[in-house]
Amino acid sequence: MTDLYRLLPEEMEELVMNLGYERYRADQILYPLYYKYPKSLSDIPQIPKALREKFTEEGYEIGSSNETHRVVSDDGNTTKLLLNLSENQAIETVLMQYPSSKVGGHPRSTICVSTQIGCAMGCVFCATGQMGFESNLKAEQIVSQVIHFAKLLQERGEHVTNLVFMGMGEPLANYDEMIRAIKILTHDRGFGLGQRHITVSTIGITSGIDKLAEENLQIGLAISLHAPNDDLRKKLVPTAGPNSVQEIIEAGRRYYKKTGRRVTFEYALMKGINDSPEIAEELAWLLQGNGSHVNIIPINPTAGDFRRPDEDSVLEFERILYNAGVNCTVRVEKGTEISAACGQLRTDIVG
Ligand code: SF4
Repeated sequence: MTDLYRLLPEEMEELVMNLGYERYRADQILYPLYYKYPKSLSDIPQIPKALREKFTEEGYEIGSSNETHRVVSDDGNTTKLLLNLSENQAIETVLMQYPSSKVGGHPRSTICVSTQIGCAMGCVFCATGQMGFESNLKAEQIVSQVIHFAKLLQERGEHVTNLVFMGMGEPLANYDEMIRAIKILTHDRGFGLGQRHITVSTIGITSGIDKLAEENLQIGLAISLHAPNDDLRKKLVPTAGPNSVQEIIEAGRRYYKKTGRRVTFEYALMKGINDSPEIAEELAWLLQGNGSHVNIIPINPTAGDFRRPDEDSVLEFERILYNAGVNCTVRVEKGTEISAACGQLRTDIVG
């Protein structure tokens, strides 16, 4: 079976014409796929019954994901789903909402999608990393995570505003499927999300960063650095590949130069591990003057043996970067009480 959510609009046109129908029939399918979210072909009455039957004969269907668990944070702003893609393929997708500053305005609704089941990068503080790698997700399985939440939001009169590739897995290790999903999700005859509303987060695979820079897309890049030197980084991200911290910083610089999009460095702050003033100074020295931004993320208190630093240490870390002229913000992880760190819900439920 081929899922129709796998096809780019141009491919849908080609398929329709190969089946003996006129080009415009493609839009009769694309519009409902991305605005009405039908469960099956029979939910699209606009297309002739004979064409629907042809799709089925040729092995095309509308794939669906089955929600098996849903947890919502106490403040209602974070929703985490466990979706079953097929037998034993459980993935996590998260919705994070930020209320609008305008009275009666719609909230900012960011979907955090997974690109792999498990992850080979083995970050020691990450539940997904401890699972190991199981498999890559297909583009349509990435798209379907967005569609699932888009449908939920539509029922509330809201819509998806942002998308981050920060769920389970390393997106650049599943490059082709990730790019296909991005092209479908940003295509004006597909899901139609603005490229600038998308961020891809990587552990720092420099070959993938350079490839992404050449795509001529206006998407944001976040690099999970977590340490300013190779010795410490190897302890925290043991299997993230051969690239040194210096090479990763340079790849970030090239990305910025090519795309004009500012690069964010993610820094998970862990008590007694990478939160000392000396390490903050080393990080400041490394990033000074390159126009990037650091997101300091005091780690989720439930992340294994790692502990969140106290507030004073977090502020001191931030102050050192700030005084050195490095843009930074402290991001408090949302939904800590609902296992919102990546891979945590799946580990809690599936094991
Ligand atoms: S933090 Fe990201 S890259 Fe590291 S193991 Fe977890 S999912 Fe993989």
